[in-house]
Amino acid sequence: MSNRPEVTLAATAHEPAVTLPAIGQGTWFMGEGYATHEEEVSALKEGLDHGLTLIDTAEMYAEGQAERVVGDALKGRRDEAFVTSKVYPWNAGRDTAMKACEDSLQRLGTDYLDLYLLHWPGGIPIDETLEAFERLRDAGKIRRFGVSNFDVEDMRALIDRPGGEACAANEVLYHLGSRGIEYSLTPWQRAHDIPVIAYCPLAQGGRLRRDMLDHPDLVATAAELDLTPAQLLLAWTIRPVEGQHNILAVPKAAQRQHVRDNAAALNATLGDDILARLNSIFPTAVAKERLDMV
Ligand code: NDP
Repeated sequence: MSNRPEVTLAATAHEPAVTLPAIGQGTWFMGEGYATHEEEVSALKEGLDHGLTLIDTAEMYAEGQAERVVGDALKGRRDEAFVTSKVYPWNAGRDTAMKACEDSLQRLGTDYLDLYLLHWPGGIPIDETLEAFERLRDAGKIRRFGVSNFDVEDMRALIDRPGGEACAANEVLYHLGSRGIEYSLTPWQRAHDIPVIAYCPLAQGGRLRRDMLDHPDLVATAAELDLTPAQLLLAWTIRPVEGQHNILAVPKAAQRQHVRDNAAALNATLGDDILARLNSIFPTAVAKERLDMV
């Protein structure tokens, strides 16, 4: 049995529980020409080879082109992956969600999604979106549904709605330099057994916060542990809290060496002394903060 950190999505009335490695793969900015199509496909395949099974995409990313990259990476190996896509809030209506999902499935070259997320809270009543998710699930198009960019009050309201308690995950921005969700959202999700999918776990390679990958104390701490700064950030993001692994990180990497480094971060363990040191450099939230998002 592997000691690599894993996160479990709870069983639902329709699906057994599923356990996933705590690091997956993001795809934002794929399909936009920053790397070639072949490089991006081969990076995602490399990730699957190394057990980074959750692939996170969205109809939004490159207006569907990122889903096509994922589709090419999945050819002949769909069953190895746990495919997550997201619906635009304005497409999350009773009928529009059916069409949006069909379009995503077509671009991905698959007939089902493992997880379908509402990309962020929008103007369509949540009951309508829940009904659409239920219909998609009954039609076999999605296995589970979840949400993204929901703060704790949104989550409370969601699970009170009929069907809302089946929400499998909430995907939010989380990295060592942005810890606002630790004040109330992550404790609430832990208590309700709803995993967090952490996006921008590398602060977009330092673009969101310039010192994230080159802060001297972070660099020194990573070197001490024989890790790269990015690996340290990932190991920190997926660390167990109160003995529980409830956070899964989805770094995006188009470079295969980055993918391999990210996969190797699953083997890193951070002791209490290291966690305390990181806390002193990048402190946790001491009051409720507005949900960080990009
Ligand atoms: P990340 O924090 O994942 O950073 C990505 C950047 O980090 C890329 O430039 C990448 O380079 C670089 N990188 C990856 N691995 C390493 C490494 N080991 N060492 C050094 N640099 C590395 O930012 P994202 O914004 O991409 O977030 C991750 C994913 O989360 C997205 O791709 C998307 O799937 C999801 N997301 C969801 C959102 C939502 O609203 N639900 C919002 C934003 C993101 P390179 O590509 O060159 O390898």
